[in-house]
Amino acid sequence: MKSMAKDYYEILGVDRSADTQEIKKAYRKMALKYHPDKNPGDKDAEEKFKEASEAYEVLADEQKRTMYDRFGHDAFKQQQQQQRGGGAGGMDPFDIFSEVFGGGSIFDEFFGGAGGGGSRRRSSTQAGADLRYDMEIDFEDAVFGADKEVEIPRPATCERCEGHGCEPGTSRSQCQNCRGMGQMTMSQGFFSIRQECPYCRGSGERIENPCKTCAGEGRVQQRKKIHIHIPAGVDTGSRLRVTGEGEAGRRGGPQGDLYVVLHVREHHLFAREGNDVICELPIAFPTAALGGKVKVPTVSGAAELKIPPGTQNGAIFRLRGKGIPSLSGHGRGDQRVKVFVEVPSKLNADQQEKLRELDQLCGEDSYPKLKKFVEKAKNFFD
Ligand SMILES: [Zn+2]
Ligand SMILES: [Zn+2]
Repeated sequence: MKSMAKDYYEILGVDRSADTQEIKKAYRKMALKYHPDKNPGDKDAEEKFKEASEAYEVLADEQKRTMYDRFGHDAFKQQQQQQRGGGAGGMDPFDIFSEVFGGGSIFDEFFGGAGGGGSRRRSSTQAGADLRYDMEIDFEDAVFGADKEVEIPRPATCERCEGHGCEPGTSRSQCQNCRGMGQMTMSQGFFSIRQECPYCRGSGERIENPCKTCAGEGRVQQRKKIHIHIPAGVDTGSRLRVTGEGEAGRRGGPQGDLYVVLHVREHHLFAREGNDVICELPIAFPTAALGGKVKVPTVSGAAELKIPPGTQNGAIFRLRGKGIPSLSGHGRGDQRVKVFVEVPSKLNADQQEKLRELDQLCGEDSYPKLKKFVEKAKNFFD
């Protein structure tokens, strides 16, 4: 916050008795000098450009100027801010600029034609909204990345009118109701309130011959095929931004972006924790007891896992680097294999007999956990 508020007359460097022409002239001089396109990256210039716009917006409006003169700078600003619900500025300074300079033609000339910022903003245009598209992908696609084509229904620029909303060969004219301002000032009590012009809905322009295809909207509903690159390592909730593939802007406004939100389908073998792949692996009871080598599926094919003798149910083994590549491109998670020891079932008489023989041969030392437990729980069993 600045400690001392500057007077709008001071900002434009005009006398308090200056007429509208003088005010406009002063504004033009300042706007051209401090326009951000002429002073790239210069915050001071940008601030001055905004100040000049604000000052012009008030002093060029007869009603507002009267209020301003009557109540003074601080009271006037405070009231304006309250009316806008505490919002920052009034009109967009670029809109004021193109209004005064007639849609940027003078500006373009001034700065050498094409690429000039004057035509960048028009009060009638409106940027397209961003779109969200929810997309299901396979587990493998999330791990290794994929390229997909999707068809997305969205408003696209109307080809018949090239987004301008007018029938070919016709053009827009200034709204008579608001004289191209797009807004109207209404008096209410002491203060004036600005409202959007109901005739042109704030655009300041009228379309006499609306385009037959889009009814003047400048865009039509369309299904478009869009290529989506999914990088390796994404997960459910990952959001991909596809620049410029959102909704078309209204009347030639800039295109919004498309955000693709990913949902990874469940895999029948693998689950995921961070960049680690989790896999449950049943092994036969003798393998657990005697140890051995087992085959394990991983996202990049079969791997071999060594099971040490005496492996217990629930034991977890780690296959380094067999997990999911990190989204950052550096490193890769592991695969964690959780072993599930399967006890033989459906044994016939013969098999049962052999197992009993084995049991007879195994002393309590074969079951150290059981032994320990029985000791601890002794009192309960007396
Ligand atoms: Zn059209
Ligand atoms: Zn209007």
